Amino acid sequence: MNILDGKILAAKIREELAAAVEEIKAEGGKIPHLAAVLVGEDPASQVYVRNKVRSCEKIGFKSTLIRRPADVSEDELLGIVEELNQDEDIDGFIVQLPLPEHIDENRVTLAIQPGKDVDGFHPVNFGRMAQGLPAYIPATPNGILEMLKRYEIETAGKEVVVVGRSNIVGMPMGILMALKAYPGNATVTICHSRTRDLAEHTRRADIVIAAIGRPNFITADMLKEGVVIVDVGINRVDDEDAPRGYRLVGDVDFDSAATKASWITPVPGGVGQLTVVSLLMNTLKASRGEVY
Ligand code: NDP
Repeated sequence: MNILDGKILAAKIREELAAAVEEIKAEGGKIPHLAAVLVGEDPASQVYVRNKVRSCEKIGFKSTLIRRPADVSEDELLGIVEELNQDEDIDGFIVQLPLPEHIDENRVTLAIQPGKDVDGFHPVNFGRMAQGLPAYIPATPNGILEMLKRYEIETAGKEVVVVGRSNIVGMPMGILMALKAYPGNATVTICHSRTRDLAEHTRRADIVIAAIGRPNFITADMLKEGVVIVDVGINRVDDEDAPRGYRLVGDVDFDSAATKASWITPVPGGVGQLTVVSLLMNTLKASRGEVY
């Protein structure tokens, strides 16, 4: 069993991005600039956004954080999006989800100019991705592609089973693995809560990508010998011995699955590590005009 180590990989990519910034500076070019819009006080969102902004600073990108209270009007938020669309210094921006209930998330996402949509949530980016055209790919699937590439995991002709069909993880992941590209060219099955016999599918899989949101849900008996496991899940489980009273586990029961797997991502220290790095990679692409 080998570990697909997100922590080591993310550190390496951050170094590469920092080197790219140094090069841009030496040539007198424009420093990549990411903006993030954070609405309200949701603790998880605050942590995510803080991470994104800090990561920008660490590698030498410019970053701008725009905060508004939870009762901000939809019109004001759409106004901010429009300003960011127009601001020539901003290469890309994100609006952290979820938004408060009185705001229509779809309306906000649609208002973002696709060329600056480094989260890859706009349907134009999703459509371009699905057609194999240059596009911003959502951070988590983008990070998984990078991980498969860098560890040289073969995907062509493989049976890939994706469990989960969310717009930000499962569905784009399934599409990407089926595309005529590397990593891709796989035979893909997308499973979800209405799948009749999940284990019947996962047992056939050469690669399992789990994005379910249920702790330790996939166990060794559901897997075949030699399987590659990409565990996207981040779940809190109570643990009296842990300093905070809980610990993080994936959607895959790591200890049992590791007995069957040829490669496996740990949680924490796997896919999650690459998510922020992916956003930075997209921002660099945006500043270089590589997608649009
Ligand atoms: P969603 O809740 O949006 O989607 C979960 C998917 O799992 C749904 O498609 C759902 O099916 C499916 N599902 C639920 N129960 C079952 C079941 N019993 N059998 C089969 N399928 C099931 O979650 P996300 O895609 O946003 O996230 C998934 C996990 O990944 C979460 O743990 C989340 O915390 C984590 N995550 C991690 C990230 C990272 O950076 N590592 C980034 C984003 C998410 P249905 O569609 O039928 O409801």
